[in-house]
Amino acid sequence: MTTAGQVIRCKAAVAWESGKPLSIEDVEVAPPQKDEVRIKILFTSLCHTDVYFWDAKGQDPLFPRILGHEAGGIVESVGEGVTDLQPGDHVLPIFTGECKECRHCLSEESNMCDLLRINTDRGTMIHDGKSRFSINGKPIYHFLGTSTFSEYTVVHVGQVAKINPSAPLDKVCVLSCGISTGFGATVNVAKPKNGQSVAVFGLGAVGLAAAEGARVSGASRIIGVDLNPNRFEEAKKFGVTEFVNPKDHNKPVQEVIAEMTGGGVDRSVECTGSIQAMISAFECVHDGWGVAVLVGVPNKDDAFKTHPMNLLNERTLKGTFFGNYKPRSHIPGVVEKYMNNELELDKFITHSVPFSEINKAFEYMLRGEGLRCMIRMDA
Ligand code: NAD
Ligand code: ZN
Repeated sequence: MTTAGQVIRCKAAVAWESGKPLSIEDVEVAPPQKDEVRIKILFTSLCHTDVYFWDAKGQDPLFPRILGHEAGGIVESVGEGVTDLQPGDHVLPIFTGECKECRHCLSEESNMCDLLRINTDRGTMIHDGKSRFSINGKPIYHFLGTSTFSEYTVVHVGQVAKINPSAPLDKVCVLSCGISTGFGATVNVAKPKNGQSVAVFGLGAVGLAAAEGARVSGASRIIGVDLNPNRFEEAKKFGVTEFVNPKDHNKPVQEVIAEMTGGGVDRSVECTGSIQAMISAFECVHDGWGVAVLVGVPNKDDAFKTHPMNLLNERTLKGTFFGNYKPRSHIPGVVEKYMNNELELDKFITHSVPFSEINKAFEYMLRGEGLRCMIRMDA
């Protein structure tokens, strides 16, 4: 029996208001419209961005909403105009898209698609400005165009990466956001050469993915910097060779790193969101060739301050979004890296819960416990 073209009734975890536990509800999911795909989600994991928008501090709250953007699933049906995906395809929905037609998509250098670039305020589909989710006829808003905390979801085709069907979705699911961001920041942007030293600021999932990128690139030293000493033990599994806690020193951490490395590291990747760490990450790279890459999302009023001499002395400062990956063109290849044992993912998945206990995943993250919690939709 096919469900294509019909409304599907299924379970979804709905955020009714900010900061309150999600509640599992029966929702109706409309069929995909033009350029849309309906996906059966099998696994989803929790990322900080979900918690940030659930908490809704410092932004316009939009509720009721179905959160979730790190996931893996199978295409159930496709809407009009969708030619490169079909039912049964294994896919990762991605929070930022690739239309393949705009100036950014046509440029080799950019992944900042004009049409489908991340939009945290939008709660409906682009095609008609409507939601595909409802309860008793009342719309429930989308989140990041993905809303993966649902057994079925509808996503724009430009936000869907088609991947190798033999890849385990309960593992590669984490490539749909944080891990690709950190890994890509190192391998696509910082680009350390074999034998070079890399400093990683912030040892959460994104920073440890940046460290994994440094390990894969053959870095000789990986210096982890974090204010939370509990992060250091976990980081050893990620090839981090030395640890610096800025709190243990009475001088700026960039000076500590310069002393440890004879003038500075070759590359640094900042994954904290702290403006102080961003400045230190830039000032700790070696003059002449050092490259610093900013990944963390700063506060609204932050300003980056450094002496221009630091740049004239031939240091480079860069920033990146989603590790510079184009979701449809590049993410399938990152999945292949995992399949070929060129990239480890299992060590990022520290917890696992059935969908009915999704609120536990929020508790782990709020307590800063572990890295990624896998949420199993079939359980
Ligand atoms: P996380 O909270 O798990 O980890 C951040 C770590 O940074 C923590 O361990 C914290 O103790 C440490 N930290 C905070 N301030 C510090 C400082 N001054 N010096 C040293 N360490 C410090 O977060 P995460 O999920 O790993 O995400 C990291 C950052 O990346 C966040 O800002 C997130 O918003 C951002 N992010 C950016 C993109 C992008 O495309 N640019 C995508 C995803 C996430
Ligand atoms: Zn585009």
